[in-house]
Amino acid sequence: MKVLVTGGAGFIGSALIRYLINETDNSVINVDKLTYAGNLESLKSVATSDRYFFEQVDICERNELENTFKRYKPDLVMHLAAESHVDRSITGPAEFIKTNIVGTYTLLEVAREYWSTLSESEKGKFRFHHISTDEVYGDLPHPEEIKNKSDDLPLFTEQTPYAPSSPYSASKASSDHLVRAWLRTFGLPTIITNCSNNYGPYHFPEKLIPLVILNALEGKSLPIYGKGDQIRDWLYVDDHARALYKVVTEGVIGETYNIGGHNEKQNIEVVKTICDILDELVPKEQSYAELITFVDDRPGHDRRYAIDSSKMNKELSWNPVETFETGLRKTVKWYLNNQDWCQNVQDGSYQRERLGVLANSLNER
Ligand code: NAD
Repeated sequence: MKVLVTGGAGFIGSALIRYLINETDNSVINVDKLTYAGNLESLKSVATSDRYFFEQVDICERNELENTFKRYKPDLVMHLAAESHVDRSITGPAEFIKTNIVGTYTLLEVAREYWSTLSESEKGKFRFHHISTDEVYGDLPHPEEIKNKSDDLPLFTEQTPYAPSSPYSASKASSDHLVRAWLRTFGLPTIITNCSNNYGPYHFPEKLIPLVILNALEGKSLPIYGKGDQIRDWLYVDDHARALYKVVTEGVIGETYNIGGHNEKQNIEVVKTICDILDELVPKEQSYAELITFVDDRPGHDRRYAIDSSKMNKELSWNPVETFETGLRKTVKWYLNNQDWCQNVQDGSYQRERLGVLANSLNER
């Protein structure tokens, strides 16, 4: 099959492409605008494959997308291109509305037009897989807020109503709605996945885990938003890539699948665990935990995310392979061994400064 992946130069997209090239016989067409978050260096290990093709295209550009579809005639579309950082969506929401909503709309229209030209059997095999986030569901009660401590804590299921909190999650929620409408109204065979927080190699250093590793190594402060008690359900990125391939090849058209890691951790716990691993691997006189600094919380910060991924398990026999401990250790080691990648992707405007401060948000529109 020919798989057109949008956003393939990003964190999850590049993991997916490495999986598709290394573990399957499929060809990949990587459609990516190469924003600050997109990096072809993340694909170095597969770029020489004769099954890998790259097109630098913005998903908001209809003509370029049409030409790409005509040229490659994909069997599957896996749509990951997005603006993905909540803090940036607070400072400047416009790019999120453009790429995540208008870009998804444009891609849906081009895919629909292309799909309508296929033979009946090709149409039957075609899939448009939209990759989304659990953040569309808003947040869940924190254990501190639950009165009866013996009650099971609630989880996000595929039936949880949408209640996004940030410009990022609202734009992703909008894109999910568009994808559903294109199935219901036009019959485009779509599938949606909503996944929890990913971590692993090639993660841009604006996100919590790589930011903490790199700041710690440079002896810089490790900023914790608020009390650091926000809970996230962490999933190792290669487990996500494997789940996505299962869904696009075995999932049912029109269904949504929640993907999660069964790894609920408070942010402060995550940061302390990274410090423990660094204390062991690159010991210094003082523990890295001494660098932890509490800073003002993120505006609108969701308190808790946690995924019920039993549908993935029951219907597609998928389970994560990595535990948080094994995955985090691998991740820290990867950053220790790939300092060049870290330097190269940060060259230019971003130096791991605080983003998403409300006071700056009106200046950046
Ligand atoms: P990322 O920011 O690392 O990568 C996004 C990629 O999209 C980059 O390569 C970028 O160049 C590209 N891109 C951005 N705008 C584009 C445009 N207009 N046209 C073409 N390409 C464009 O993001 P990620 O963390 O890899 O996330 C990928 C997808 O998975 C996103 O849709 C995100 O919402 C979703 N997701 C992410 C997580 C997570 O924890 N990172 C969890 C669940 C879902």
